[in-house]
Amino acid sequence: MNAIGIDVGGTKCLGVLIDEGANILCSVRKPTPSTEDLIDLLQEIVEELGDASTIGVGLPGLITPRGVMQAAPNLKNVVQLSVATELEKRCGRKVHVENDATSATYAEWKIGAARDATDAAFVGLGTGIGAGFVVGGRLQRGAHGYAGEIGHMVVQVDGIECVCGLRGCWERYASGWALGNFAGGVDGEIVARRAAAGDANMIEVVDVFAKWVALGLANLANIIDPEVIVIGGGVVESSAVFMPAVQKWFAELLYSAESRTHPRLESAQLGERAGAIGAALLGATI
Ligand SMILES: [Zn+2]
Repeated sequence: MNAIGIDVGGTKCLGVLIDEGANILCSVRKPTPSTEDLIDLLQEIVEELGDASTIGVGLPGLITPRGVMQAAPNLKNVVQLSVATELEKRCGRKVHVENDATSATYAEWKIGAARDATDAAFVGLGTGIGAGFVVGGRLQRGAHGYAGEIGHMVVQVDGIECVCGLRGCWERYASGWALGNFAGGVDGEIVARRAAAGDANMIEVVDVFAKWVALGLANLANIIDPEVIVIGGGVVESSAVFMPAVQKWFAELLYSAESRTHPRLESAQLGERAGAIGAALLGATI
């Protein structure tokens, strides 16, 4: 049976229709509307994608096990939006709602770079940082559905102000936004291109950024000791520039590095479609 998955991002929504082999049959992309119009847009995407027996939705923010979006720093005016219940009423089918990074983690674990791992983590370096974990062969959601919010792990007391209201969150130092910030406002893609061409300033920016990325990954490795950490997000498009520097700093910052098996650091395989594919797979499974 075919399954629909929709990934709601801060700026765009991506919907996919997949078959039983997780092949994408068609996809729809739309700008993310204001929160009041979100359910209307999700219904429109479902109708455009065509016939499917299940629907899964990945949302950015704190999502309860009953599919209520409690808070979303990158979407405006989110107050306890019952996405699952409201969309079920419109579409007449069961709707599974999950955190977007948890959905992407599931996709990379089932059919991507962490396939066959019993213990794995996914870290998406986008505008912010989204993450998810698989521990002992189980996708982790936490007691309230909020596991994996390591973008808001504070790594610098009284550091840079974050969209969440705290200061010094890891995503202010290791996201795509942070890379641009370190480069004085230069776009991340341009930083990568200039560093690859030998620009000394940009090579330094990449090194500083990579150290912050590696610091969070080393902290994560101390918590769950995964076999593999999959790194996704826009930065992965330029993995040849970033990954060697991240690998170098990760090996330096990992606790007792000389006496242990190091988790593998891998680039994500499903790209920007991981969240939508994962939402579809979860919707079909649960
Ligand atoms: Zn924060």
